[in-house]
Amino acid sequence: MAYIKIREDRCKGCALCVNACPKKIIKLADYTNKKGYNPAVFTDRDTCTGCGACYAFCPDVCIEVYR
Ligand code: SF4
Ligand code: SF4
Repeated sequence: MAYIKIREDRCKGCALCVNACPKKIIKLADYTNKKGYNPAVFTDRDTCTGCGACYAFCPDVCIEVYR
């Protein structure tokens, strides 16, 4: 089973990871972080394959993948 961790404090809510995830299990939060952006949040440990697409697309290196 794989999962990711997102550094919400560093996220700028660009949604590149949201669109990159083939399983569509990353969403933008309905709250804002300290920078005023809606951060990406990981929603489903059971579905994540650990493919790393989200990590590869994040321009701010906010995502760590564990598998
Ligand atoms: S590792 Fe792959 S499946 Fe898991 S959240 Fe990232 S893009 Fe989606
Ligand atoms: S790609 Fe990075 S900065 Fe953009 S929403 Fe995802 S985690 Fe945040």
